[in-house]
Amino acid sequence: MAENYAFQAEISQVLNILIHSLYKDREIFLRELISNASDALNRVRFEMLTNEDVLDKEAELEIHISVDEENKTIRISDTGIGMAAEEIVDGLGTIARSGARMFLDQVTQADDPSISADIIGQFGVGFYSVFMVAERVEVASRSYYPGAEAVLWSSTGDAGYQMEVSDKSNRGTDIFIHLREDAHEFASVWRIQQIVKKHSDFVTFPIYVHKIGGEEEAESEAQPVNQQTALWRRSPSEVEQADHDKFYSSLTLDFKSPLRIIHTHADAPLQLYALLYIPHSPERGPLTPRQEPGIKLYARKILIDEYNTDLLPEYLWFMQGVVDSEDLPLNVSRETIQSNPLIARLKSVVTRRVLSELQKVADEDPELYAQIWEAYSGYLKHGVVSDYANREQLLPLLRFVSSKSNGALVTLDQVVENLAEGQEAIYYVVADDLVSAGQSVHLDAFRSRGIEVLYLTETIDGLLIPSLGQYEGHVFVAVDVEELDLDNVGQPAAETEEEPIDDATLGDLIMYITTELGDQVKSVRASKVLSSNPARLVTPADAMNRHQERLYRMLDKEIETQTRILEINSRHPLIRNLAARLAAGWQDDLLQRSVRLLYQGAMLADGVHPRPATMVEDVFSLMEAATHLDE
Ligand code: ADP
Ligand code: MG
Repeated sequence: MAENYAFQAEISQVLNILIHSLYKDREIFLRELISNASDALNRVRFEMLTNEDVLDKEAELEIHISVDEENKTIRISDTGIGMAAEEIVDGLGTIARSGARMFLDQVTQADDPSISADIIGQFGVGFYSVFMVAERVEVASRSYYPGAEAVLWSSTGDAGYQMEVSDKSNRGTDIFIHLREDAHEFASVWRIQQIVKKHSDFVTFPIYVHKIGGEEEAESEAQPVNQQTALWRRSPSEVEQADHDKFYSSLTLDFKSPLRIIHTHADAPLQLYALLYIPHSPERGPLTPRQEPGIKLYARKILIDEYNTDLLPEYLWFMQGVVDSEDLPLNVSRETIQSNPLIARLKSVVTRRVLSELQKVADEDPELYAQIWEAYSGYLKHGVVSDYANREQLLPLLRFVSSKSNGALVTLDQVVENLAEGQEAIYYVVADDLVSAGQSVHLDAFRSRGIEVLYLTETIDGLLIPSLGQYEGHVFVAVDVEELDLDNVGQPAAETEEEPIDDATLGDLIMYITTELGDQVKSVRASKVLSSNPARLVTPADAMNRHQERLYRMLDKEIETQTRILEINSRHPLIRNLAARLAAGWQDDLLQRSVRLLYQGAMLADGVHPRPATMVEDVFSLMEAATHLDE
């Protein structure tokens, strides 16, 4: 007796959207069904490694597609792990686990459904895509464990499905598709072969396509349609770029070519094949099925782990690809992989290989390396911070933009080569972005003395610098430290014509500013280093540095604005004006507002003003005074 079940509410929605938005790409239903069959075959093969009690142990692991051109039906059969009744309900009646969930979220969020239609065809949309071409689908399945009852699931894709007992006697799953009238084009052996080649060439199980009701079995039907080559086991020189592109996109459903391919084969000290890709961007599209990090781990061609994260350190988890080793014992389970000592050795080999490839790119193709750096700088810096074992390989991979590099990238070695006369420390400025760094008020003295300053704009820099500490004996020093002394470093520029204000007047101004700002600043002092800017804020030796302050802000921690030392430039016209105004006894509203803005301007310049909007009133009021026409 067949029993009726209703689909989970979202499923009808998914079906509806699929049918309407993917019309042009309907052929991907076959890719999805083959991918499920391949998953099921992988799972049963894995099960057989450790389990004696598997039904039909001798069955070939294959996928067969039978096309009935006359009756417009297609049947896809696998000898995979199969599904028992509860598993069918779970797998085909709910969408919680499948890519369809993300698909639905994405499509319903997009304002214009036609935009998403173009890209959706590229993503994993799962079993339901079959209803783009089917008016009725029957799934007969028998699970791998002896004694499980075979089930027959059927649905027309609208409200729900039926289930009943099936007489299927062998292990695996048969999907029987009655094509919709507008999808009769798929009732063609030739067409199906073509689609298999296009989307499923690298599936590692043989896929056969048969014609039902034909005469003799044609020769083409006795041969698998797909190449099923383990691409990573082929000699690197034999694999063409097009094969890589195809394999990479079938693996990741990322259709942009990877930035770099690392294809390697070793026999000693460990046997391994590795085929790894650096994706063009670390971002995984919202619909990409490989949302989880990890690479595929094979032992002797058998897929052991779909998303293995033990083979690479966390900072390299952006890599995609496959590692396959003949040395791994086949009885490893997903749970025990991690503790297998061989994995640790594989990890160290693979990690070094990736790092040496990056170095090779850096040496041979700086333009490509700049692209990689742009995408992955944060990851590699994370590597320097966390991976002491490979530090020597990681340091030469670091790149910086500096006050002298004109936007180009420099290495630490270049920075050391370019140290100015008498320069011991490597100086850096922390800023929100490169433009702000370039305009930093702290750079005055460095510019005029010809000293290079590194621009640090990534959050991770706050960890990188303390972790580096020094490079080749040169310590890293922030440009805004309290005790900055550049007297004997570089070539001082010629003195400006402006005479500094005399000490007594300057002393009065400093006193006035100190009183006016109160405990917002730790102290006020005359600057020895400013030349073209009127003021800057200096971090006292005992205060939280700017890196820490930024880190805390990123973490959304409530922190007080750090009290800093305000330095003023006694040669700057603005400071001279303020001093003169004070000396003339004009301790008025204008002077007060100007001093407030002087301090806030310095905060703003460093990107640490907690509430910039509070400046507006003072700014407008000063503008009003400045633009006033004396009658
Ligand atoms: P996904 O493959 O992303 O999990 P699908 O919608 O393609 O999503 O499939 C849903 C689930 O149905 C699978 O996870 C699997 O458990 C089950 N399933 C589908 N096809 C098969 C099959 N041929 N053999 C065994 N199980 C299957
Ligand atoms: Mg699937």
